[in-house]
Amino acid sequence: MIGMRTDPQAQAFAREQLSRRANLLRERLRMSEVVGRVVTLKRQGAEWFGLCPFHNESTASFTVNDRKRFCHCFGCGFHADAIGFVMARQGLGFVEALELLEAENGLRHLQAARPAPPAPKVEQREDAGKREAMLRIWNATVDLRPGSPGDRYYRDRGLLPPAEYGFGDASVNAGWPIDLRFHAELWHGLEKRAMPGMVAAFRRHDGTLVAIHRTYLKATGVSVTKAGTERDKAMLCDCKGAVIRLADYADAMLGGEGIETTLAAMQLFKRPGFAFGSRANMAAVDLPLQVSDFIYAADRNKSHSDPKRSRVGERAAWQGAKTFGQGRKISVQVPRLPAGMTGDFNDVLLMKRRGEWPSSAKASEGKPSGVSKAAPAPTAKVALQVLRRSAEDKRDLRAALRAAKAEEEAAFEAYCRATPREIEAATRTWKSACARTESLLQRSIA
Ligand SMILES: [Zn+2]
Repeated sequence: MIGMRTDPQAQAFAREQLSRRANLLRERLRMSEVVGRVVTLKRQGAEWFGLCPFHNESTASFTVNDRKRFCHCFGCGFHADAIGFVMARQGLGFVEALELLEAENGLRHLQAARPAPPAPKVEQREDAGKREAMLRIWNATVDLRPGSPGDRYYRDRGLLPPAEYGFGDASVNAGWPIDLRFHAELWHGLEKRAMPGMVAAFRRHDGTLVAIHRTYLKATGVSVTKAGTERDKAMLCDCKGAVIRLADYADAMLGGEGIETTLAAMQLFKRPGFAFGSRANMAAVDLPLQVSDFIYAADRNKSHSDPKRSRVGERAAWQGAKTFGQGRKISVQVPRLPAGMTGDFNDVLLMKRRGEWPSSAKASEGKPSGVSKAAPAPTAKVALQVLRRSAEDKRDLRAALRAAKAEEEAAFEAYCRATPREIEAATRTWKSACARTESLLQRSIA
């Protein structure tokens, strides 16, 4: 909790400045010029080709596109914008890469850099084998085409290509995010046979491909659905610390747990987004530095007799919001399903499409219908204060500290959800709650 006690407004301001500087660089720099300092590039139509600086190869599979402002390697899957390229190539953090590119002689520094990429840390043989298998699968995937099984699978789930509502390029990958690709013969270990499937890339924020996610499909003349095997979804390699990018990074973004639920949330909120891929990642993966406004799009899980296991999706979202929300505009949103129902944002879209959406569930205040802000975990403020006082009366410092921490948590949640009009009061409440935890902490140490 100690890390939270900096001035959120100053942090937000610093972030905004950084994001403005980053956007300026992205607009002004020609990608081929930045990459061209370290990679010999040959022009071919709208694209530049060269040998990838991130893996060993003898035929060029590294492409640079100035118009789309990214570079992409078909060999190892590296994908990044100018800043991401410098981060990965030079082993720099976001801010350092930004400063290097901004500095007048920044590009000359880049040119003087050592020719070989940093040696990868020693991997276990098993990990190396897995990684090789992952790259083999990823390299055998193909683009989505309109009407192809991948395109139909998403459309059958009520989803539209993000390019249709403003994120991405309609002429690339049928308008779907470029990290969602199709594989005609994806091996299924349990079924012991190959079947068609979707493959999604997990990347770190600097563009490094670290894992892939597979969804096995079954195509009939009528529709394309999940295959219906015992396990229709599978991971390869460790996705810890990485996300599935469903649009280019931007100032205002959203993040969901799964691919389809995140695509659905993007469609509902009209925002670019990425999928965390798991609940654990949602709670633990830092947001891209340039993001200053973020929506955690949580799933609404079934209620469980053990309250700790109810609303686990929301809990993960709140955990992420608390850890990474500092200095950012953050909210946690959950699908607002008809009474008694649980599900995710894709369920909202599907119900609407099937005409099962109750007419009473109308949009309010410019918000898409079927969406509501998550209520904080059941921590009623009054009950907390009572608990805190009685605990203090008994000189039970630990219980008091626990209560104060819960109060701080509730105050932070209120701060996250505060409107501009409420933000000052919410910040004060949160800060005083932090001060209270701090003083109790010190008393308990003393
Ligand atoms: Zn490569």
